[in-house]
Order: sequence, then C-alpha cells, then structure tokens
Amino acid sequence: MTRTRKTPEAEAEADAIVVGGGPAGLLAALLLAQGGVATVLVAPPAPEDHRTTGLLAGSVAILERAGIWPALLPAASPMRAIRLIDDGGRRISGPEVVFRAAEIGRKAFGHNIANRELVAALAEAAVETPNLRRVSDTAAEIRIGIGGVTVRTGAGETLRGRLVVGADGRGSAVRAAAGIGVRRWGYDQAALVTTLRHARGHDDISTEIHTAAGPFTLVPLGDRRSSLVWVTRPAEAAALAALDDAALARAIGRRAEPILGAVTLDGPRQVFPLSGLAARRLAVPRAALVGEAAHALPPIGAQGLNLGFRDAAAIAEVAGEARRTGADPGAAAVTARYEARRRGDVASRTTGVDLLNRSLLTDAAPALALRALALQAVKRVAPLRRLLMREGIAPGGV
Ligand SMILES: Cc1cc2nc3c(=O)[nH]c(=O)nc-3n(C[C@H](O)[C@H](O)[C@H](O)COP(=O)(O)OP(=O)(O)OC[C@H]3O[C@@H](n4cnc5c(N)ncnc54)[C@H](O)[C@@H]3O)c2cc1C
Repeated sequence: MTRTRKTPEAEAEADAIVVGGGPAGLLAALLLAQGGVATVLVAPPAPEDHRTTGLLAGSVAILERAGIWPALLPAASPMRAIRLIDDGGRRISGPEVVFRAAEIGRKAFGHNIANRELVAALAEAAVETPNLRRVSDTAAEIRIGIGGVTVRTGAGETLRGRLVVGADGRGSAVRAAAGIGVRRWGYDQAALVTTLRHARGHDDISTEIHTAAGPFTLVPLGDRRSSLVWVTRPAEAAALAALDDAALARAIGRRAEPILGAVTLDGPRQVFPLSGLAARRLAVPRAALVGEAAHALPPIGAQGLNLGFRDAAAIAEVAGEARRTGADPGAAAVTARYEARRRGDVASRTTGVDLLNRSLLTDAAPALALRALALQAVKRVAPLRRLLMREGIAPGGV
C-alpha cells in the first residue's frame, strides 16, 4: 500500500486560529465562525479589567449584525453628546465645544459599557456559536509556514490551521512569529480609571476636560453613574491610586463636581501606564493582526477598541469571502486584502490621536494658540463640526 504524505492543508483542523480572548479576539472569532470559517479560539480567561469602552455607532452596528447587541444593550449607556472643555489653568484656552449626535441625525454617538460585561457577553456568545471551538489555554508556540500554521497550546495540544489571527495584545506572540516589526513610543502619562456615583444626572453627555497633563474624561454609565478615565503624569496617577476612597473622591470631585454634583466612588480603581504602538504591517501571508496586537493609542476620543472591532469585522469579511468561494482563507491575496482594507483607517487614527494627545501636553504658545483656533472653528462652523462627528464615529461614516 502506498501512503501519501499529508500536506499541511490536508491536516488543517481549522480554517482560522484566533489567539487572544480580549474583546477584539472574541469578536474576531465570533464573526469568522458566523461567516462560515471554521475557527479555534486559543484564549485563557481575560485578565481583570475595570475599564469601560465607549462603543461608537460603527461598533454597535457590527455587534447588531452579529446578533450580540440585544444582550449588551441593558448594560450600555447612550452617549448623546460629547463636551470638550479646556482646563482653565492653561495659558491659552479654547472655548467649550459640545458635539450633539442629533446634529448628524443620530440619537447617540454610541454606548458606554463596562469591559467586564462586554467580554462576558462575547464569551457567552462564543460558546453558543457553531463552527467555533474555544481552547482555554495560552498559545505557547506559533509556527507560520507556507502551507499553513501550527499553534501548540500550553497544555501541549497541537492545532493546525490556514490562517492565524493575532489578537494577543501589545506583546503579541503572533506578531513576533510572523516577523512583523513594531514601532513603540512612550507618553509621560498614566490613566487612573474608576466608576463614580454622582448627585446630578449626566444627561447622557460624555465630558472630556483637557488638562495640561491629559484628558479627564467622564462617560455616562447608568443612572447617576459615570466611568472616569483620568489621564495625568504617572507619579500623580500612582499617588491618587494610593489615596483612601474619601480622599480620592475629593480629588476627583474638584474637577467632576461642577458638572455632576457630589461624587462618591462606585467601583475599584486601576492604573494603566500609557504608550503607543504601531505594527509595521497588519498582515503577512497566513497571519493577520487585530486590536492592540496591531495598534495601541492613548484613551482620547474612544478610538482604540473601536478600531479593533473594525479590524475584527474586516478579517472576518475577507476570510469569509475566501471560504465561500472555496479559496484558502490564509492565502497571500486574502491577507493582502485585509492589509489594504485596514491600513488607512489604522494609520490615520494612530496619528490623529497621538497628535491630539501631544497638543494637550505642549506648553508652546503657537501650538496652544493653534489648538484654541481649531476649537473656535469647530464651535462656529457647523459643517466642520458635522464632518468631525461623522469621522469620529467611523471612517467615511456608518
Ligand atoms: C484607560 C483606557 C481607556 C480606554 N477606553 C477606551 C474607549 O472608551 N473606547 C475604545 O474604543 N478603546 C478604549 N481603550 C482601548 C481599549 O481598552 C483597547 O483597545 C482594548 O482593550 C484592546 O483589546 P484587545 O482585545 O486588542 O487586547 P487585550 O484586551 O489586551 O487582549 C489581549 C488578550 O490576549 C491574551 N493573550 C496574550 N498572549 C496570549 C497567548 N500567547 N495566548 C493566548 N492568549 C494570549 C491576553 O490574556 C488578553 O486576554 C482604552 C484604553 C485604556 C488604557
């Protein structure tokens, strides 16, 4: 009897292997499987995360199409307006600007939801999705070959596939295995996050107070509750995090109380050092990067995970199209299509958010004056404001 040696394709157990079970990886795995791409998700339980995500309308639309939004809606709070306030202590300040979703014919820019609830709902949907198997383990070894990919789990199981999707965060092992370089940069900033309860209603308005150390952002999260992202110098973030609840509430109240009335803490606190990251490519044959494996931005304007959700939708679309036409979902043409589809959006958001963040940190009079002028223009010129609002939600509108 002649035995034919199996090609890597013939051995493939999955069309796609997604590594990483944060929100971007969970969504990518779900959308791939829903699109007919047999998927294995290699993901230990996600670490504790007390952040919330302002899911903009484009992300909500993706979750609606995937059938997941109804489960999330009860825990999500609409953001009907976004208010930018320049901190009074700056040498040259801009005017207060309010963006209202109604101006662009929408009820809300999006919804704010606790990451914990978002990840739990996505993980639950993953259990019920045909075509999707979750291996609750880390990817210990990833090999990307010409004909396929192999992932060995921490427990020693070997998984074979045609495409590996790296959703494994900033230190991505998939990115390293794919030989994709990365540009990293630091910010002298950290974000303190917590949840507040407050005396006055937030009127579904998200408020960003721009200080010389970064934005102090209050986002609606239920009735008389808001999530706080306070970006400041790392030493101040560490000192704030070390305060007892009453003292931290007082420190927060100095900025928040003129807007929300008396505040008390209503959740644990966490500090995130800020840094930026941009992968030199988003894909190579047989490997694609999504979410923070590909790009990490400071938390201004709620862009980071929204970008990651658009990555997840795009890889699922191109791999699903390939699968339906009988093509190989990890082939060079497919990953090149993903790179082409995502490159512009990722590059423009990474640059835009970085510039916006740096414009807050500068003390140079010309830059401050330019920023104040830009805010004046945005306040006065309605078409410019509407363009910014549409582009803020998603490239080219949704
Ligand atoms: C303070 C703050 C506030 C923010 N607010 C917003 C916001 O309002 N809106 C917004 O859009 N974005 C926001 N962001 C950005 C957003 O939080 C991130 O974009 C998002 O969490 C990234 O998700 P991810 O799934 O790509 O990565 P992660 O959440 O980092 O997930 C990566 C996962 O991969 C797993 N992993 C790593 N290595 C392996 C391995 N070898 N095998 C298996 N699994 C592995 C990890 O355990 C982890 O679960 C904010 C960020 C910060 C810091």
